[in-house]
Amino acid sequence: MASIQFVSVTKAFEKNAVIQDLNLTIEDGAFTVLVGPSGCGKTTLLRMIAGLGPQTSGQVLIDGKDVSRIPSGQRGVAMVFQNYAIYPTMSVRENIEFGLKNNKVPKAERVRLVESISETVGLLEYLDRKPSALSGGQRQRVALARAMVKKPSVFLMDEPLSNLDAKLRVQMRIELIELHKKLGTTFVYVTHDQVEAMSMADTIVLMNKGLIQQEAAPDDIYHKPRNLFTAQFIGVPPMNVGDLGVDGVKFGFRPENASLSAAESWPSEKLEQTRPTPHYALQGTIVTREMLGSETIYQIRSGDLSFMVKSPEDTFQVDQEVVLGVEAAKIHFFGADELRIED
Ligand code: ATP
Repeated sequence: MASIQFVSVTKAFEKNAVIQDLNLTIEDGAFTVLVGPSGCGKTTLLRMIAGLGPQTSGQVLIDGKDVSRIPSGQRGVAMVFQNYAIYPTMSVRENIEFGLKNNKVPKAERVRLVESISETVGLLEYLDRKPSALSGGQRQRVALARAMVKKPSVFLMDEPLSNLDAKLRVQMRIELIELHKKLGTTFVYVTHDQVEAMSMADTIVLMNKGLIQQEAAPDDIYHKPRNLFTAQFIGVPPMNVGDLGVDGVKFGFRPENASLSAAESWPSEKLEQTRPTPHYALQGTIVTREMLGSETIYQIRSGDLSFMVKSPEDTFQVDQEVVLGVEAAKIHFFGADELRIED
């Protein structure tokens, strides 16, 4: 296992600084997810840890040691990519064994290692198949197994699930969480998908334009976003944001924290019972309605403003007049400098 530290790291391509004076500590043994929009610098960070693209200035430390002069192969890291880099002409066994053969590991030890790792990732019964006879998820497991035989102290993964269909992605997420528990190794995982980040990470590092926006546990990043960018990047649909018109202050609330009542029955007894705490209410009209099964997403227009509401109730209809209520405690405020004003 190993911790990773970035100390005042800047990375520039030509004169374009894509990472600027970045400081970050990735905890030993944690599952850390780097997330952010395309081009924000996630892969660049991962490549610096792997030794595939040196920083322009600052230091990258693995287990407290500056690794600038340590070549990629000697850093104790293994990288898994989205296009899983497995050899199509080799069987699963040969693919997994490849690195071990190169390192002249004796045959008996190779067989033992390949079988134990294949068991961990659920490939034992496919060892003699060629990759073309495997599903996407099974191929991704071969790539993981190939990384695991190196016994790395850090696993680096760059969008490893993005080539898989939605259902398989969900399954593989669970498998990766399990794998991380079994191995106890430091995982650094890059994705642009905030749902992946929320569901897998011990710690999320949210980036935008080469800068860390917030580094926190999923719960904290969701409930205590430090700034507007974080508030709107994490969560689907994104947080509703409106302008208070005072010194650039904005307010926001999550779609699931708003309740709807039919305008003609407001204020209802039910509302009073279920919302005993102070809340704000405004009247609007439903303009779209999207039924998702267990919940329905409504878009509400109120004057010039538009809000999304995620509700367990599917009874409201397009064009219906409604009252949207939000508990005061669920409203976030953001200052002009983008920092959260509360706490
Ligand atoms: P994505 O999710 O699209 O993979 P990312 O967050 O991983 O994006 P990076 O690949 O780290 O982003 O790229 C960060 C920035 O650095 C981008 O603006 C990109 O164009 C730029 N960049 C990356 N590699 C190079 C390079 N070799 N030469 C010049 N610019 C580069």
